[in-house]
Amino acid sequence: METDMRYIEVAISLPVYQTFTYSVPESFTDFMATGKRVLVPFGRRRETGYVFGQNQGADIADIKEMKSILDILDEQPLFPSSMVPFFRWISDYYKYPVGQVVKNALPGGLNIRDYASVAITEKGRNELDHGRLAPIAKDILGQLQSKTILVKDLYKKIDQDIPSTLLYTFEQCGLITRKWELAGDKTKARLERFVRLTDTALPADRLSATRTKIIDVLKIEGEITVKKLKESVPTAAALIKPLESDGFVTIDHKRVYRDPFGESIEPDRAYILNQEQQKAVSQSSNYLTKGYKTFLLRGVTGSGKTEVYMQVAAEALKNKHTVLVLVPEIALITQMEKRFRARFGECVAVLHSALSAGERYDQWSRIMQGEATVAIGARSAIFAPFSNIGVIIVDEEHDASYKQEGSLRYNARDLATVRAKQIGCLALLGSATPSIQSYYNVATKKFTELTLETRVEQRPLPDVSIVDLRQTRDMRGIRRFITPELQQAMKASLERGEQILLFLNRRGYASFPVCGACGQPMRCKHCDISLTLHQQANAYRCHYCGFSRAATSKCGFCGSAKIRHLGLGTEKLEAMVTSIFPKARIARMDGDTTQRKGSILKLLKGLKNKTTDILVGTQMVAKGHDFPNITLVGIICADLSLSFPDFRAGERTFQLLAQVAGRAGRGDRPGRVILQTYNPDHFSIAAARQQDYIAFYEQEIGFRKALNYPPYSRMIQLKISGKDPQETENHARLLGDLCRTLKVKHSADYQSVEIMGPIEASLTRIAGRYRWQVLLKGLNAKALHQFINQLLSENPPVFARQPVLVAIDVDPLFMM
Ligand code: ADP
Ligand code: ZN
Ligand code: ZN
Repeated sequence: METDMRYIEVAISLPVYQTFTYSVPESFTDFMATGKRVLVPFGRRRETGYVFGQNQGADIADIKEMKSILDILDEQPLFPSSMVPFFRWISDYYKYPVGQVVKNALPGGLNIRDYASVAITEKGRNELDHGRLAPIAKDILGQLQSKTILVKDLYKKIDQDIPSTLLYTFEQCGLITRKWELAGDKTKARLERFVRLTDTALPADRLSATRTKIIDVLKIEGEITVKKLKESVPTAAALIKPLESDGFVTIDHKRVYRDPFGESIEPDRAYILNQEQQKAVSQSSNYLTKGYKTFLLRGVTGSGKTEVYMQVAAEALKNKHTVLVLVPEIALITQMEKRFRARFGECVAVLHSALSAGERYDQWSRIMQGEATVAIGARSAIFAPFSNIGVIIVDEEHDASYKQEGSLRYNARDLATVRAKQIGCLALLGSATPSIQSYYNVATKKFTELTLETRVEQRPLPDVSIVDLRQTRDMRGIRRFITPELQQAMKASLERGEQILLFLNRRGYASFPVCGACGQPMRCKHCDISLTLHQQANAYRCHYCGFSRAATSKCGFCGSAKIRHLGLGTEKLEAMVTSIFPKARIARMDGDTTQRKGSILKLLKGLKNKTTDILVGTQMVAKGHDFPNITLVGIICADLSLSFPDFRAGERTFQLLAQVAGRAGRGDRPGRVILQTYNPDHFSIAAARQQDYIAFYEQEIGFRKALNYPPYSRMIQLKISGKDPQETENHARLLGDLCRTLKVKHSADYQSVEIMGPIEASLTRIAGRYRWQVLLKGLNAKALHQFINQLLSENPPVFARQPVLVAIDVDPLFMM
């Protein structure tokens, strides 16, 4: 028990920024602890709360008024008390209600609360059968006919907006009744039955043969699960009960962890480090246990960064510290997890979205209980409930996947340094192509740089040749995209039995279907974006909202059936390559081929076992993979990301190209890259060709400085969206006016805050929502945050949900 938990501070998973004080009935105080969930009364209903500790405020004035908790929902805490300041920081910085920060951090399915549900009355049924109802009323009552429905589910079922007053009116008229129902809490610990022998002496004669067999198995195995016992004695389940009643065995329910690791892994041994690696390891390990510090490991592709991570991790583990490793996406977790498990064994836990809620909860518990001392995961693993971290490693730190969009918007890379600073440990960020932000932190001495300039075993960096696509612009068919140079190189590679990677950052067959009669592109019904033809799925699809139309659809403008399938995607590229090299074994790795669980692993295995000759893929293939037999990388069109209306377009292009190029020549044989582009002179492309990060940085940072873009300033974007175009625009304009008024009113404080917009977003509509933006830019981060805080606190209704939504994106990465 912690000290005096009679009054506790509780964060509630509702859109409120403050925490609340509750009293704890005496019978509960022994079980109360920070990090547990409690069920509390809140307004008219019951909600889940998270215990933040003993009440801090001291002024517990209205003890009589104070409500007390109704229940404690956990036996063991879900997070250590050291994470409470972390949650508070996130809430404050990213402007997100603190209880909802915790809810986002925890494995899903743990939230239990009262939901409103509605049921139809007799009168309602009558009306439905005989009354004259509006279509929407008919729709709603119809849904309720067979069962009670949670209001939130009802909203999902009805395909149009339900005015918030409508249900209320129905209730007033006696057509429906409303009540509160506890729901949620779907994720539970898995319990299994374990059997073992007791000390009771066994009668030698009275037992049947099968019972004797059970006893014999238990004698050898000790305590085992009933499931395991059934492998030897199929009928065991029925027989152990009487054995228990006779006192010969005991049966216990115990917690087991669901196993997300499919296969066992051979242990490996640490490499002998080369000089550069050695220096990086000792330089950073020296600072373990000495408080907060961030290192940026800049190592060219194939320089052995992972080995550096593992040896620093080993040092931290030696000191009895834990290790947190962040990896940008699931495909890379597999690779990292394998290497770490081979080195460190069973103490490795993984956290990512491909785990089932139950598996995730179990991994979480292993970390929390101290059974796992290394955790590897995607961005959400930044919340791993460790209390004694030695080092937080962020691999491929430049990767945009670290940015969480939607609900709680955060950047896990940035949070890594925040968490490290709060607990006083190391952060180790690594990349071949660091983000401009992080390298600027090196330049301004906030971070310390470690470098690996050469590949392991002196392997050369690949040789990059540029092919100017303007020369083939007017060609027809395949040659326009698979130029003679590329084709030649592919042929030679295949003849040598080597592997090829073809990179095109666009999935689908044709990304730009256009009507052959009237020239109009095929557009999404809900988004301001053109549809992509997916041949395998036999449909046009929207990559933003998932809208889909049959591949046989006609032009929506003139009705012509003659659609020209312009625009190249990976699916079409794969077909082209097949027609040129019919004997080659070709595989494709993109969002479409990796939907099913295990499919990524299968694709990676194909490369490893050399059953794949050519891999066609999107940016998924660009990231961090180590494919030793790939000697040729073909970049089909280097310019796709260059034309985005975003100040980071150059940075993204450089990173992507340098990373893809880095997949070549990682084994014994040297690699070659053919980079096809319409802009051979663009500095992002030229720098990627040279794999020269510093040259790129020097150029790019100059632009940022001239325009006061990050890292020279900070940004907060207000993302305004709504279903009605006029309402959305009005709300955006109102928000813009409020910003300007605030700035004028406090001109001295907010001089450094620049207000841009409101403007319509470059993607004007997504999933049926119209989109506007206001961009706040500030040279002074503190003033900028104070500005948004004041804006929020003075105008709560403007930020409240419905019908127009305002999302606050602090340090936005995707500005379109
Ligand atoms: P990076 O992440 O820097 O691109 P990796 O960590 O994937 O590079 O390392 C590339 C390859 O080199 C891997 O196959 C790894 O096992 C191997 N490697 C790493 N360190 C050494 C070393 N000191 N000696 C030999 N091989 C090494
Ligand atoms: Zn048409
Ligand atoms: Zn769409």
